[in-house]
Amino acid sequence: MSSPIVTAKQLEVQRIVDVLSKAIAQHRLRPGTRLVEAQIVETLHANRNHVQVALQRLAMQRIVTIEPNRGAMVSQPSAREAREVFAARRAIERAIVECITPAIMHAQRERVARHMRDERKATSATDRRAIVRVLSEFHLLLGEICGNSVLGEILANLMVRSSLIVALYQRNDVPSCASDEHQHIITALEAGDQAQAIAVMLEHLDELEAQLTLQDTLAPEINLKDALAGL
Ligand SMILES: [Zn+2]
Repeated sequence: MSSPIVTAKQLEVQRIVDVLSKAIAQHRLRPGTRLVEAQIVETLHANRNHVQVALQRLAMQRIVTIEPNRGAMVSQPSAREAREVFAARRAIERAIVECITPAIMHAQRERVARHMRDERKATSATDRRAIVRVLSEFHLLLGEICGNSVLGEILANLMVRSSLIVALYQRNDVPSCASDEHQHIITALEAGDQAQAIAVMLEHLDELEAQLTLQDTLAPEINLKDALAGL
């Protein structure tokens, strides 16, 4: 089987998808932000057709919502979707941890150590955006080193969606991940104690979900007839 040919157009679409995903994951673009095509074309020096394809791809990943006549906006996941994303993360991150052997940890030790240093540095300072980014990178790092690219890709999507969920539902000033839990996961993985690593990861994800106020904060569907009755 020959490998698929990657065209210049595909690379360009991927570039736009990556930039928008990153901006959304880092809360530079908040849920509900309108994504005006012309502005993206101008800012990213991109072609309109490529921007449209990128937005459609992000819509398929549920990161962007496209509404007829209103165009694209950053998705606003419902409380139900938020619970489903966390349930999916528990399944996927458990599977990722199961794939990470002590041999992988040994081969990746420098990368992991560098990440943990970045984490300690970020969490001891006050740049909230940097903290959110580095803590989420921990989960992505495990997805990348686990050796199963499908699990890694699914997690990358779930992490962007988690970021939208945190932006919408996180109670103020609660740090999104505790760094020492990350360290416990690493220590267990290095020791080859998969059961302990899974237990800490699942507990960690439960805790992250518990920090959210999962009630629909979006405007409820208003019945126009009721609203206008008797006026
Ligand atoms: Zn975490």
